Order: sequence, then structure tokens, then C-alpha cells
Amino acid sequence: MSIIVFSENRSEKIKKSSLEAVAYATNISKNTQQAVVSVSIGNVPNEELEILAKYGASKIISINAPEWQTHDSQAYAKLLNEITEKENASTIIFTNSNIGKAVAPRLSVRLKAALVSGIVSIPSSYSPLTLKRKSYNGGAFQNVQVKSPKAVLTLNPNSCEVVENPQAVNIENYTPNTPTNFQTKIESTDVTSGKIVLTEASIVVSGGRGLKSGDNWKPLEELADALGAGLACSRPVSDEGWRSHEEHVGQTGKIIAPDLYLAVGISGAIQHIGGVSASKVIVAIDRDKDAPIFKYADYGIVGDAFEVLPRLIESVKKFKNI
Ligand SMILES: Cc1cc2nc3c(=O)[nH]c(=O)nc-3n(C[C@H](O)[C@H](O)[C@H](O)COP(=O)(O)OP(=O)(O)OC[C@H]3O[C@@H](n4cnc5c(N)ncnc54)[C@H](O)[C@@H]3O)c2cc1C
Repeated sequence: MSIIVFSENRSEKIKKSSLEAVAYATNISKNTQQAVVSVSIGNVPNEELEILAKYGASKIISINAPEWQTHDSQAYAKLLNEITEKENASTIIFTNSNIGKAVAPRLSVRLKAALVSGIVSIPSSYSPLTLKRKSYNGGAFQNVQVKSPKAVLTLNPNSCEVVENPQAVNIENYTPNTPTNFQTKIESTDVTSGKIVLTEASIVVSGGRGLKSGDNWKPLEELADALGAGLACSRPVSDEGWRSHEEHVGQTGKIIAPDLYLAVGISGAIQHIGGVSASKVIVAIDRDKDAPIFKYADYGIVGDAFEVLPRLIESVKKFKNI
């Protein structure tokens, strides 16, 4: 038996969240004695694929034919069904990304497998497999026991530490039997906020309606630059057109789980918190001491963002010597 991990890439590089998924699979494999098999679709050079072996994949299946350079979730589900049978896999792990959310349910139907989405930590038990996931829009946690022979899982980013567990490199260039007469040809729509991809950022600086206008984003951009952080915003900010919808986090936006989430002028509505509550540390800056965000924040600064931000930027730059 084996565990399959679907490894996503961008610009010929394996995404950090996929290395986390391999580390997660390795954790399960150590307790269940199953091999970890990584599947990569797209044009990723072998030197890059080898990184998957460094984190525990004992086999890497690479599909890099030009006709597979698409994001057709139905075709991906068929292909992963084929590989699951070929590798006699019991568990298939995705990142809880747009691709994972689109492919995992389709695959679970094909395999008649349990589907557990939005997993946030390593299993609390391996027999039966017991998984912790977020539910009720991040308002509660659920412990799910898998009772079916096969399971398809999606793992929230930043939910598993990336630990090295080197294996011998074993790359198989695979030609699928699944036909490639795709109905759709979808280009990757990943948009980066500056240099940092929001869902993979370990620090995120986020602005809300308290910043009053899109013209006031300069200090947030400067702070994000100094911290090496991704930029996010609340929904009204993107609804107003101050920032792109790509940056909107929350129930109807992106779900993120950075090490540090810095909310500036964001009141802390439940729909916003649903997208950021898995952050390891939340810091809030708001001028209203009773703003709900302070209930969720580990650290809070009560003050005017336009006074606090310049001082924070100065301190960060001094600390980082930039
Ligand atoms: C179905 C549904 C889905 C939704 N999905 C989302 C979602 O995905 N994401 C999301 O964010 N929202 C979502 N919302 C909207 C959500 O309910 C809130 O309206 C929204 O999050 C509020 O955004 P905000 O905190 O930026 O603005 P506000 O609630 O207006 O808060 C602004 C904050 O800034 C503070 N402030 C003002 N001036 C300053 C200053 N100078 N310095 C410091 N602080 C200042 C204020 O004290 C206040 O706390 C959804 C709503 C619904 C109904």
C-alpha cells in the first residue's frame, strides 16, 4: 500500500505547501509503513522534483507531456484515479488549494473514498486514521475518524512542519492512459501579491476599511516589503476596488494560515476571521479598543493606524538593519 501526494508547482518550482503535504504523508507513513509517492503534473525539472525525495517521497511520478499543461480538474481526477490503482494507494493527499478543492472531491467519488478537507494538524491516531479539520467557517474544529478503506485528504497550508526525511531519488516519467481530449483548457490563475504568494506567505500584512482609501496602502506595502510579507485585505476593501480581489481573505476569499497575521484597521467580523483564524499569531492594530478583532488577536495595539504604521516600519527596518 502507498500514500499519494499531489505536488503542485509554479514556474517550474514545487510549492512550499506541497512539501508540507509530503512531510504530512511521511508522518502517516512512519506510523502505517506505507511508501510515499509524489505525483507532479507539469514541466518541472528533475533537480526540482528531487526535493520531494528530500522530504520523504520514495517515488516521484512525473507527467510532463505538453498536453497535460492544463488545469482540467476532471482530467486530473481521472489521472489520479489511474495512478491510485497503479500504486495500490489507500490515501491521497492534496493541498487545500483551488486545485485540491476541485480535484479531491471528484477523486473521492471515483474511488468511493472518504473525503476529509481542510485538515489542520497531524493525525491524532493512525488506526483508525483520526484527522482534525476546521468546520463552521473556522468557528470550530472537528475530529474525523476515517472508516473506509480509502481516503482523500486536503491539507491546509502551514498545518505541517516541513521536516527533512531524505529518500533515494526515484523519478518515473509516466505516460497516462487517461485520454487527453480535455473539454477545457485552463491557464493558471495564480496571481502574486508583489513577490509573495498570499496562501504560502509565512507573514501576511492585511488592511481593512479603517485605512479609508486605496491611496493609503503605501505604509502597508512598505511594512510588507520590510517583513518579506504577503499583502491581504478585508472584503469591503476589494469590493470598493481599493485592492484586487486576489488579496481578499475570509469566508468568501482566500483562507490563509501564516505564522503571523497583522490586521490593520480590520474590525474582526466573523466572515473575515473564518479565513485567518488558523494563523499562528495574530496582531491587530485598531483605534477602537472594543473592536472584535482584539478577541482573536494574540497581541493588540490600540491606536490610529496612520500613527502606528510609520513607527512600526521604522522599528522593523532598524531591527532588520535595512
Ligand atoms: C456572506 C458574507 C460573506 C462575507 N465574507 C467576507 C470575507 O470573506 N472577508 C471579509 O473580510 N469580510 C467578509 N464579509 C464582510 C464582513 O461581514 C465585514 O463587513 C467586513 O469584514 C468588515 O471589513 P473591515 O473590518 O475592513 O471594515 P469595518 O468593519 O468597517 O472595520 C474597520 C475597522 O477599522 C477601524 N479603524 C477606523 N479608522 C482607523 C484608524 N485610523 N486606525 C486604526 N483603525 C481604524 C475601526 O475601528 C474598525 O474596527 C462578508 C459578509 C457576508 C454577509
